[in-house]
Amino acid sequence: MKALILNSPQKNWDLTHGMEMAEIPSPILDEKKYPEDANKTLIKPLYAGFCGSDKSIWFRKAFKDMIFNSLDLKGGSYRVCGHELLGEILETGSVAERHYGYKPGDIVTTESHIFCGKCHQCQIGEAHVCSNHEIIGITTDGCFADRVKLPAKELWRTDISKIRPEVAAIQEPLGNAVHACSRVDLRGKSVAIFGCGTIGLFSVIVARALGAAYIIGTDTNPKNLALAEKLGIDLTIKIPEENNPEAILSVIEQIRKDRHGEGVDASIEMAGSNDVLNAAIASVRPGGDIILFGIASGDYTISNFQEIVMNGKSLHSVVGRQVFKTWHILNNLLLSKETRLQEKIYEVILNKGIGTLYSFNKFNPKEFEESIQSHPKIVFKF
Ligand SMILES: [Zn+2]
Ligand SMILES: [Zn+2]
Repeated sequence: MKALILNSPQKNWDLTHGMEMAEIPSPILDEKKYPEDANKTLIKPLYAGFCGSDKSIWFRKAFKDMIFNSLDLKGGSYRVCGHELLGEILETGSVAERHYGYKPGDIVTTESHIFCGKCHQCQIGEAHVCSNHEIIGITTDGCFADRVKLPAKELWRTDISKIRPEVAAIQEPLGNAVHACSRVDLRGKSVAIFGCGTIGLFSVIVARALGAAYIIGTDTNPKNLALAEKLGIDLTIKIPEENNPEAILSVIEQIRKDRHGEGVDASIEMAGSNDVLNAAIASVRPGGDIILFGIASGDYTISNFQEIVMNGKSLHSVVGRQVFKTWHILNNLLLSKETRLQEKIYEVILNKGIGTLYSFNKFNPKEFEESIQSHPKIVFKF
């Protein structure tokens, strides 16, 4: 089968970039040989979203250790990338059929964090922070391929007569925004979103759908802010440049001035920058909430720590999606006519498919690299 893989030796990680379209053996279900296949399904991808994490693999910015440690552990020299899937089930293992009711022809998407089901968090219903989780397309083979084998317990049925397939393929990253925006009650509140990349843009429409009254967006990239405006954001503030503390201070001042001299009720950090995190904290009014989503490796310095405690500000971390609570909320939001979430995603974030829908069979690395650099989201069509 054809698959888009990371196939560069660990020692060449920094010297290479991109992914390789290769011909590799297709996965199969064989319960006699592999008893765990009873729980699995063989899926034919129809559409697959290219994630920010795929982009950081493409440019060799993150996930090196996770990918190579998993290859060392399980054997193998390459990793099939991709985890944002809409696909059709071709075959099911006996348990996948009996226990989960899946059958060939079913249309599904997937949770990308494969939870173990055995650790303490999994047992108390917090599988999104499973201690032993695998990530599809990073520690186990993913969906940028003609076939992918996935555990039935991770799948999420999707009705493509109600959800447009291009949107259905990106429910997983949209779920990040739903998780972040449902972490605290946003009804009637003012919210500042720091970082209007893909998940930040999703958060603009999700926060609105969940009741946020007034939404501010900040970003260094004017293209992202223009998209946020098309999505109906109330105010955008351009961060003049990265790593400029004075520029960031002026953003905090503008937000405070705009919101009664005190700041917003809640801020969401989606930029993954230490300076921006401090700005997100400082832009929240006393008693407000800060939702942490963006990440960067290494140490962070929290400025004016005392101010956080003395002003009763609360910090909340968000990772992945609550399985499957977030998915249920996401489904309600996508089906709601009032939110027009599907239209906004397709028309604005996916630019009606123009330049964003990419034929998997006509993959051209140079052309593809240009696409991922000029749009917030690219979706493969198989
Ligand atoms: Zn993703
Ligand atoms: Zn677990």
